[in-house]
Amino acid sequence: MLLLQAPPPTRFDLNFTLFGFPIQVHPLFWVIGLLFGASSTNLISILLWVFTIFISILIHELGHALAMRYYGQSSRIVLHGAGGVTIPESVAWGSRYANVALTPNQQILISFAGPGAGFLLALLIMLSVAFTGGVVVPNAAYLFGIVPFPYAHYPNGSALINSLVMTFLWVNVFWGLVNLLPVYPLDGGHIARYIILQFDPWNGLQKSLWLSVYVGAAIALLSLIVLSSTYMALLFGLLAFQSYQILQSRSPL
Ligand SMILES: [Zn+2]
Repeated sequence: MLLLQAPPPTRFDLNFTLFGFPIQVHPLFWVIGLLFGASSTNLISILLWVFTIFISILIHELGHALAMRYYGQSSRIVLHGAGGVTIPESVAWGSRYANVALTPNQQILISFAGPGAGFLLALLIMLSVAFTGGVVVPNAAYLFGIVPFPYAHYPNGSALINSLVMTFLWVNVFWGLVNLLPVYPLDGGHIARYIILQFDPWNGLQKSLWLSVYVGAAIALLSLIVLSSTYMALLFGLLAFQSYQILQSRSPL
């Protein structure tokens, strides 16, 4: 999602294979969970954040990887200090190695499959809570007062299980939606690029980068003024600036 290039392997990496996909976890990846849990003084809830972020980002990237496999493209997953990335791998093609040529619509579905996997996980969690005696209130809480935000808990359940459920729902629904904003290199930025390219193959890339600059800057301002979230403002300000830099470095078409 956030990093354009995967970090090189280190001796502190965690390496394993899941569903046939090689997975590399860079040591800095664990810092993300620690940052989210930093406001808590309780060790259990810090570990809960690390666990939630690990499972959620892994499932997000598996969504991309499975969609790529569906279209014949093999891939590997890297979880790093700025999130995760699913990297297409060259496949043996006769005596050469080549990447599978994907159509714009296939690229859009691959990009959507990451947040889509997270939404599916959130739905499964809500269904499991509902079928095991819990309460699911889809409209109880609202995200920024605009988007209905799912809410699920066990009225007589343990505080740990309830906060695990809510943390999983928040990470997968909130960040899934944020990830769909048309800002490069979020998944929504890729989706916007392939949609615009279909209408304007000549200037589409440039237009999608300008969209990324304007939407990124607008989200940064809104985050600061409306949500008073310095973190979101910094993140989107940085992404807007990054898109602007790519535009400046490209020779005029
Ligand atoms: Zn993604």
